[in-house]
Amino acid sequence: MRYLSTRGQAPECGFTDALLSGLAPDGGLYLPIAWPQVDVGAAAYDDVALRILKGFAGGDFPDDALKADVAAAYAGFDDPRIAPLVEIAPGRFLLELFHGPTLAFKDIAMQVLGRLFARALAERGGRATVLAATSGDTGSAAIAALGGLPNIEVFVMHPLGRITEVQRRQMTTAPHANIHNIALEGSFDDAQALVKALFADAAFAGKVGLTAVNSINFARIAAQSVYYFTATATLGTPATFVVPTGNFGDVFAGEAAMRMGLSIERLVVATNANDIMARALNDGIYEAGPARRTLSPSMDIQVASNFERALFEASGRDAAYVREAMGGTRIALPAPIRADLAGRYGAHAVDDARTLETIARVHAGTGRLIDPHTAVGVAAAEQVRSRGPVVVLSTAHPAKFPDVVRRATGQIPALPPRLSGLMEAPEKFDVLGPDLGLVRSYIAARVPAA
Ligand SMILES: *Cc1c(COP(=O)(O)O)cnc(C)c1O
Repeated sequence: MRYLSTRGQAPECGFTDALLSGLAPDGGLYLPIAWPQVDVGAAAYDDVALRILKGFAGGDFPDDALKADVAAAYAGFDDPRIAPLVEIAPGRFLLELFHGPTLAFKDIAMQVLGRLFARALAERGGRATVLAATSGDTGSAAIAALGGLPNIEVFVMHPLGRITEVQRRQMTTAPHANIHNIALEGSFDDAQALVKALFADAAFAGKVGLTAVNSINFARIAAQSVYYFTATATLGTPATFVVPTGNFGDVFAGEAAMRMGLSIERLVVATNANDIMARALNDGIYEAGPARRTLSPSMDIQVASNFERALFEASGRDAAYVREAMGGTRIALPAPIRADLAGRYGAHAVDDARTLETIARVHAGTGRLIDPHTAVGVAAAEQVRSRGPVVVLSTAHPAKFPDVVRRATGQIPALPPRLSGLMEAPEKFDVLGPDLGLVRSYIAARVPAA
């Protein structure tokens, strides 16, 4: 499969190039030149993952290599179904995506991506410098997947004081020498803007072999499309999927599944008070406001990077339109694009009071503790009118957000045994101001000379 950029000014490339670079050199995001058509039926998670990855990466990696990487990626999950579906009310389901090593859905793609990365670098030679901005969960998933791998240095920037202690410790207690944690004095959007600026610095990016593993990396989207297929196969009928959304990566993976031939009733975007995507889809204006701090911090994002992919598709793959739209700070969506998006997507914003109330109500009704991101999804799902099944993506384990869960229910969710010792382990991180030159020299000083 070949890949093109949503901005149309980068050369087409293969899967490995898209994987190792993350962002296209013209500032756009990679997409396959055509969507592979996948027919899965009922099958085990690993089999579906393999079939989908072959569609995207076949040709670059032999089948048995992909098979081994998928098997290894999911061997460490604490549920053999990987993404189990549980019914919480008649026709209402949670799709549990938090059974990996760092307790959030980011592990599902990152565990595969880390292995593909190691394989690609070993084959091509050379080094990579992974740079990630995290709103809390991407960083720990990247560290769990890439810590200790040869030829890779990993720099993770989190917004200082804006993630939970469990989230921070999952990153800062990593014992590996190739992991570097930066606590940035600023918001997640500040961190993401610095990452984009460093990628735009072609001389620097080329010198250190800069690469991205957040959801701008297409391999993440590919791996996340798998659970839409397995959930639909388990239900045996098309479902409405409600997706707690920040960067629009996880919900775009649902669009990817549709474009690969999966029948999905509707994709519902659930946001917290950082409702840029709800406003874009409901009012037709995409415009970032200041990031607000909420009880669901992994979604405290105002610039939803992956919306660019949805816009590219909704415009009939019009790269000139995407280039122009992404160049400004406010996009008024043209009527045909709005209509196209409305055919697939609904959206609801949920505030903190409802998030707390939803955690309490689910606990009272089912005995289950859910995390605040999942609660945003459950609250949004309550607005959905559908006679078919409604599936909320449960994106994190409640133990990652103990303070919010306790506030809502009086209960403290227990950390799974695999994280015992987390609260005592020594931490390592550096605090930096939100300054491009500062971050650039921090990285340059820590990347071994070629
Ligand atoms: C990252 C994250 C989200 C948002 O996913 P996007 O792909 O950024 O839309 C939702 N919930 C949790 C727990 C997350 O870590």
